[in-house]
Amino acid sequence: MTDTFIAARLREFAGPTIFSEMTGLAQRAGALNLGQGFPDSDGPPELLEAARSAIARGMNQYPPATGLPALRSAIAERRADDHGVSYDPDTEVVVTAGATEAIAAALIGLCDPDDEVVVFDPLYDSYSACLAMAQVRRSPVLLEYDGTRFTFDPDALRRAVGPRTKVLLLNTPHNPTGKVFDQEELEFVARLCVEHDLIAVTDEVYEYLVYDGLRHVPLAALPGMRERVLSVSSAGKTFSATGWKVGWACGPARLVSAVRTVKQYLTFGTGTPLQAAVAVALTDCMPWVDGLRESLEHRRDLLVAGLRAGGITTYPSQGTYFVQMDARSFGSEDGQALCRMLVAETGVAAIPSVALYDNKAAGRHLVRLAFCKNEELLAAAARRLADAASQG
Ligand code: PMP
Ligand code: GLN
Repeated sequence: MTDTFIAARLREFAGPTIFSEMTGLAQRAGALNLGQGFPDSDGPPELLEAARSAIARGMNQYPPATGLPALRSAIAERRADDHGVSYDPDTEVVVTAGATEAIAAALIGLCDPDDEVVVFDPLYDSYSACLAMAQVRRSPVLLEYDGTRFTFDPDALRRAVGPRTKVLLLNTPHNPTGKVFDQEELEFVARLCVEHDLIAVTDEVYEYLVYDGLRHVPLAALPGMRERVLSVSSAGKTFSATGWKVGWACGPARLVSAVRTVKQYLTFGTGTPLQAAVAVALTDCMPWVDGLRESLEHRRDLLVAGLRAGGITTYPSQGTYFVQMDARSFGSEDGQALCRMLVAETGVAAIPSVALYDNKAAGRHLVRLAFCKNEELLAAAARRLADAASQG
């Protein structure tokens, strides 16, 4: 008698995710939670009020499977105004249960078993699980720290593309490094996609959380790329509503229809009143998002300054909620062991970046901290970490 009924290809994913695990440990230890990436304050009041009002107005039944028309139009408008890429809201935009469902549906809907997907390493945790669900192989390309930034070896990227490669999966701004792919890197990726006739699926959930005067450039905005890119994003990070799980994918109809085919049987539709509220926010709340970006940049600086003052090595982050620090500053080579010690003894929860690495040796010493928390908490966490490092 077997002790599990979980399909063999999914057994390695059976335990709780690293984010659930660390939040659980943080709650039990009463630790400051710089682990799982969620903000500790609410999004714009107009967003919250729009959801309450949609519920009160009776928007409580199924939405259309592709999403509320008002939301699809608002998404298309943002993409056109902010990034100069136009989509037909009826055929080229689909609303999903968070970016997570969009990515899952894209991989399942675009790939056949034994196809290959090129992905940058480290990679967000759901990618590996979805690739396993789709029985698709991953071909990782390491993002290495070159002394100033995390970047990839163009030859390694070229080598990662094989005869079965169908999709290149790109996350920028990137979790967990905070890397924002620059123009030159994007151009290289674009050229490779054209050369090998690849589809690109881009995870852009942090598209508005980019600092230091940089701007997010979607791969789809590069010349010739609109027709081969499926751009995924969501409301979670943009409007500090990670629990709402309203996401979307935009792209040419031939790619969007692959997502729609899968998502209509995964969830069919999700969160009608929340979709209505996100449509309002995408139209009216972008100035609020500018304020969020400034505030997050300031909070990143506050945390990094506190860590550095305590002699802790940090790595550059120009976007997302996250910055990485080096476990070796605490006298440990092992970020995973350090995170367990920190949550239990120092009262700070963090994420061992190795959990998101395919190449475990490359990520062993890295620890991810979320700075989407209030300033007081960040300052207290930095003080505790600096104390711990000084004893390491
Ligand atoms: N991609 C990345 C890189 C993420 O960090 C996250 C977590 N927020 C997601 C996708 C999932 O987004 P959502 O909550 O909209 O499903
Ligand atoms: N995206 C969040 C993070 O990276 C986690 C979301 C989740 O818990 N699935 O921390």
